[in-house]
Amino acid sequence: MSNRTLTLTPPLYEYLCKVSLREPKLFARLREETLRDSGATMQISPEQGQFMGLLVELTGARNILEIGTYTGYSSLCMALAMPEDGRLVCCDISEQWTGIARRYWTEAGVEDRIRLHLAPALETLAKLLAQGSAATFDMAFIDADKEHYPEYYEACLQLLRPGGLLLADNTLWSGRVIDAADANASTAAIRRFNLMLHDDARITLSLLPIGDGLTLALKK
Ligand code: SAM
Ligand code: CA
Repeated sequence: MSNRTLTLTPPLYEYLCKVSLREPKLFARLREETLRDSGATMQISPEQGQFMGLLVELTGARNILEIGTYTGYSSLCMALAMPEDGRLVCCDISEQWTGIARRYWTEAGVEDRIRLHLAPALETLAKLLAQGSAATFDMAFIDADKEHYPEYYEACLQLLRPGGLLLADNTLWSGRVIDAADANASTAAIRRFNLMLHDDARITLSLLPIGDGLTLALKK
């Protein structure tokens, strides 16, 4: 028994996945293709994706915003968990990576639910606000360039309805947030973002040690 969050050793992590992960073959194929093509590991982990799908189902979210889509893993997890008439607005700047996402959305049969905006996310968010979308989103997921997290947060708070849920990824940043010698701009922005939320009375807050740290903030 433990009254603090466990450290997940590799064997315990393996066990967690063995007894809880139900990753569809299509999702696994997307992870393999992404790793092969980019060599990068920018995707969320499969257990985090499954948890985010559960959150979509739990909240009944039908209008979701994603900032940072890449090859589509997180968008796929959320889109497949929404009702058929749900809408997912995706923001990214990479035609190349989102080209892979589009292929998988089609294969999964969710392409009709997704609107991709290929532009800097701050521009897309400003456009959504100008078009009258304030307080219309049920959920928002922030996972693009870390330097802009504080700005994405403020825009998302305006776009979410009261009771809407904000998710922000990588908020433990491989532990770099507590490395005093790390003066990297992304690390500094995540630290600033975390403190901003801690002091913000407009939200109910939780930071989960899943994946690279996932912050949940419920707009009051
Ligand atoms: N959520 C994705 C997943 O789990 O599969 C991963 C997203 S990846 C960490 C970050 C993405 O943000 C990249 O695809 C990158 O092109 C995009 N990005 C970077 N700067 C951006 C910006 N200013 N506006 C919109 N997207 C941006
Ligand atoms: Ca991420």
